Amino acid sequence: MADTSTDRIVIVGSGLAGVTAAGTLREAGFAGELRLIGEELDLPYDRPPLSKSVLVHEGAEEQAALRPLGWYEDHRIERMPGTRVVRIDPGERRAVLENGSSVAYRKLLLVPGAHPRRLPALESGSLPHVYLRTLRDALRLREQLQPGRRVVLLGGGVIGMEVAASALQRGCDVQVLECAPRVMGRALCASLCEHVASYHREKGVKIELGVEVTGQALSVPGVSLRDGRVIPTDLVVIGIGIIPNVELAASAGLRCDDGIVVDEFGATSNADIYAAGDAVKYPDAFHGRAIRSENWMHAQNQAVRVARNMLGEREPYRQVPHMWSDQFDLKIQVSGSHDGDQDVVRGDPKTNRFMIVHLRDGRIIGASGINQARDMKFAGTLVEMHACIDASRLADLQFNLKKAATL
Ligand code: NAP
Repeated sequence: MADTSTDRIVIVGSGLAGVTAAGTLREAGFAGELRLIGEELDLPYDRPPLSKSVLVHEGAEEQAALRPLGWYEDHRIERMPGTRVVRIDPGERRAVLENGSSVAYRKLLLVPGAHPRRLPALESGSLPHVYLRTLRDALRLREQLQPGRRVVLLGGGVIGMEVAASALQRGCDVQVLECAPRVMGRALCASLCEHVASYHREKGVKIELGVEVTGQALSVPGVSLRDGRVIPTDLVVIGIGIIPNVELAASAGLRCDDGIVVDEFGATSNADIYAAGDAVKYPDAFHGRAIRSENWMHAQNQAVRVARNMLGEREPYRQVPHMWSDQFDLKIQVSGSHDGDQDVVRGDPKTNRFMIVHLRDGRIIGASGINQARDMKFAGTLVEMHACIDASRLADLQFNLKKAATL
């Protein structure tokens, strides 16, 4: 018999955004049926530990579940793990599954996330290569990170640098190959990029910048570079960015443009379908243009806002960008933008506890901190306020950021 439920919300994607949206829908009073469809078999889990604790410590994966199993039952969230949606039929309001059956919806939330950008030139040959996105990828990678093993990280972004730190802690011989002139150049300002790279080098990570990998080497296990050199290695981990999963949305006729296009409320170009998380392109008040945002805080906060809007609230999603990354004992955090015209350093970089406040036209537009968790909270508020504070005061450690942020 055809599935004809008329009071059901279906969520496609069971990552952080999907699970957060499901919980929010219940908290906000949605009493109808709620289905959470996801391709992976595992209980939905958090991704930040995958490149850190899960790689370093056996058993850390047990702490990675977003919610315990009983939570889904308590909230009447019907999970459909290991289930692939192959098509959306917006006219009939159905999500069609791989096995040919379909699930009817009143409203649909797409939170399909993204997949790693691939480098086919490194995929053919006998050298093992790994992309890291899922829990199973992380568990497979951990097995391969054995003491003395030579590991190349291709890409010095967040994945590359976090995995480099984890692999070194596992006793591997680690080398990062990055095509740009800096590591973590997308996330951090130039001086923080330098700081992070120096710290890694001090710990024993080799880093080469501005290099282009052309493929696997033929002479020895390793990778070949454009300049003719060969870097011998036993394993290559590829972290060169992600691509949003837009296929379902695009084939359903929803507007896509390097992401599923949504408005400030999270609605797609179809009134019954919303979207959130890594895969969406949304109008961002902070940047003053449509962007895609690839971070944990965004996935969580947009999911909360959009779930509430699906139930009839109409509040725009607004969020000052915020990211963090843990590498060795460095807690790196960034709020707002680092693309200013003046940087003010607070604290001594040699102590590995300092902050850089980014100003544009005298106003605070961002802050980047190393081991500054407490003050970064207040700096984030100052970024939201676009506060105007004299550079000499900001540089003075006696100047109290908490007081300034609570004025
Ligand atoms: P990423 O942060 O965008 O970094 C990719 C890096 O690889 C960039 O520096 C890029 O340089 C470089 N690159 C691109 N093509 C290359 C090539 N052929 N050879 C060498 N280097 C190349 O992406 P990612 O590290 O793969 O991370 C994937 C996603 O996971 C991101 O969305 C990230 O936000 C998320 N993630 C976040 C965290 C966190 O927030 N702590 C941790 C792990 C993962 P160009 O910039 O010059 O292209």
